[in-house]
Amino acid sequence: MKILIVDDSKTIRAIIEQCVVEWGHCAIQCESGTQAVEYVRSNTIDLIIMDVEMPGMDGFETTRRIRALPQIDWFPIIFLSAKLDNESYIRAIDSGGDAYLVKPINPVHLRMMITSMERIYTMRVQLQQMQRELQLANQELERLSLHDGLTGLANRRFFDQMLEKEYRRAKRDHIPLSLILCDVDYFKRYNDSYGHAAGDHCLCRVAQAIQTALQRPGDLACRYGGEEFTVILPQTGLSGVQVLAEKIRAAVWALNLPHRVSEVAHCVTLSLGAATYTGQYATPDALVKAADDALYRAKAQGRNRYLIA
Ligand code: GH3
Ligand code: MG
Ligand code: MG
Ligand code: MG
Repeated sequence: MKILIVDDSKTIRAIIEQCVVEWGHCAIQCESGTQAVEYVRSNTIDLIIMDVEMPGMDGFETTRRIRALPQIDWFPIIFLSAKLDNESYIRAIDSGGDAYLVKPINPVHLRMMITSMERIYTMRVQLQQMQRELQLANQELERLSLHDGLTGLANRRFFDQMLEKEYRRAKRDHIPLSLILCDVDYFKRYNDSYGHAAGDHCLCRVAQAIQTALQRPGDLACRYGGEEFTVILPQTGLSGVQVLAEKIRAAVWALNLPHRVSEVAHCVTLSLGAATYTGQYATPDALVKAADDALYRAKAQGRNRYLIA
């Protein structure tokens, strides 16, 4: 451990330093409380051995100030004092100290006290490490629960949450909200012809193309299920959604992924249906339904196109 020795007596500092170094620790010396507070403020340490009687700031006040430092984590503080009265003992613990030893120094007591404090300190460090790992695991779990494993886009659950949120915002603030539903054309045949693995790869490329077509930070592309994707476009009206729908259609077309069994083209294509909320839909579901109807008509009218509700 990196141990800070705070004592106004040079001799005592030297004796303690000799001991702790012999026990395998590293020692730093401070000759006053003020110096100790300054040191702890800008350096990390693992333990303090603190004299009580010092000119200027005594060990109790020094400890109180160290404990009050912002952003300084807990570490053990062991007091060394010539006084053995109850009052001093109470003040030592009350000021933020963890143990109290009397002078003259009994090296065995000091060594065992450091060992016992080190045990608590180590457990605390491990606990903090575990907390950090748990936090990261939770973040990863949250990410997994909201994203599609194949394409990395937001999943259906994320979509539902965001659509609900954006719908409420659009309704409250009287701003438009647009939604696009995209569906890969003749994808069952694609799978049948090229195999499921190639189908998966194709879906990833399509997802990427959709994602890349979006530019505003609030726009959200999701995998709705199977070979269907959705795009939520907050604060976007009719003209905006038209531009975006065509941009997405063209982006997938430009991928030029061969599709030998499609009836519309030599390559993979998308059909899209879009709808814009400007107060007319009573629920988010009604907005989805409107976009879905438009998608159905885009399919019926020949695919590889978009239609707006
Ligand atoms: P349409 O042009 O009318 O949309 O025809 P379609 O064949 O695309 O429509 P349909 O809904 O009948 O077929 C969708 C197919 O998508 C069915 C399934 O084989 C395929 N599919 C769904 N999810 C996945 C997936 O995760 N991976 C792969 N490879 N295929 C999938
Ligand atoms: Mg002293
Ligand atoms: Mg489909
Ligand atoms: Mg399809």
